[in-house]
Amino acid sequence: MLSDCQSFYASLEKSSNPQYSNKPLIVAGDQARRSGIVLAACPIAKSYGITTAETLKEALAKCPEVIVVRPHMQQYIDVSSQITDILRKFSNQVEPYSIDEQFIDVSGSLSLFGSPREIATAIQDLIRRNTGVRARIGIGYSDRRTL
Ligand SMILES: [Mg+2]
Repeated sequence: MLSDCQSFYASLEKSSNPQYSNKPLIVAGDQARRSGIVLAACPIAKSYGITTAETLKEALAKCPEVIVVRPHMQQYIDVSSQITDILRKFSNQVEPYSIDEQFIDVSGSLSLFGSPREIATAIQDLIRRNTGVRARIGIGYSDRRTL
């Protein structure tokens, strides 16, 4: 399985700041210090056409009322390892791939935790409840016999 968090930084900022939950929000650096790049945009901000890696200036031109939040990298790293800990409840084969993406081999866990779909749903629920983030989980086979 591959677990991938939706709008990871922006989702974490929204769960820390619930007053912004229904507003367009981006995580970006400081424009005055020329680090004004959009690191993450929530789905509402994306609906205005804002994309990751564009400048804060471009984002503000598309949506002047967008909420701009500075990154809190240590918090994102901490939540990432919290998610790794959740995944490790289901498998001893967990491989972080990026800050919000991790591979999980559950082929040895099926008799303990149920079908892949049941495991994925249980993982999604735990991540959601513990971190406030929505994770998408893709399921595929990597059994050599199917290649
Ligand atoms: Mg992601």
